[in-house]
Amino acid sequence: MDSQQFAVIGLGRFGSSLAGELMKLGHQVLGIDRDEEVVDGMSERLTHAVVADATDEEVLRSLGIRNFDCVIIAIGDDIQTSILVSIQVKELGVNKVVGKALSDLHGRVLERIGVDRVIYPERDMGIRVAHHLVSPNLLDYIELSKEYTIAELSVPRCLDGIALRELNPRARFGCSIVALNKATGMIIAPTADDKLSESDIMVLIGTNRQIEKFEEQYG
Ligand code: ADP
Repeated sequence: MDSQQFAVIGLGRFGSSLAGELMKLGHQVLGIDRDEEVVDGMSERLTHAVVADATDEEVLRSLGIRNFDCVIIAIGDDIQTSILVSIQVKELGVNKVVGKALSDLHGRVLERIGVDRVIYPERDMGIRVAHHLVSPNLLDYIELSKEYTIAELSVPRCLDGIALRELNPRARFGCSIVALNKATGMIIAPTADDKLSESDIMVLIGTNRQIEKFEEQYG
């Protein structure tokens, strides 16, 4: 993967963790925060970190924000500031703008402004933790859209030795097993004759409700 240039505006808990992780993944990161102490704390960990008020369009221009591959606006608590910064960053013509929203309304405003991707870290983390608490076998899941999810579950003991034909997830739950990760290797698009073994990892795709039903039974 080519190294990309990211700018993270707002280095609070979310912004600083995101910026640090992007650095670990080998990308270049400019961190911007109006709080000098916050910037000092991050300056060693990022490619550049600057003290600046991101509501000031001139500042954004002089930092060359337009040229970044992706700009993340990680100001959450102060909704008005988040909106002001988002409008300016969009107007400067940045290709990909990601905005952190605190509430649905905040997120809808960011979408109207043209923010390309709105994320809801608190809400999403709450949902994620709830799924893991009720389904100990759930390893991970990705929301493909509002409706569809991919989930990774370890095979519980009760399914050990069962062929997919017998489990019949499509007829019983509506979802499909698209891959099986076994000790011997990965099976992509397993057939009805493939058998599950305890602690294999199955990758399911379906609507949120279908996956939930499967989790209720086997999670
Ligand atoms: P978190 O919940 O992730 O900690 P916060 O909303 O508390 O997020 O933190 C946002 C960060 O954004 C703070 O460090 C704050 O100093 C910074 N910030 C707020 N307004 C601006 C602004 N106009 N320009 C630059 N940084 C800002």
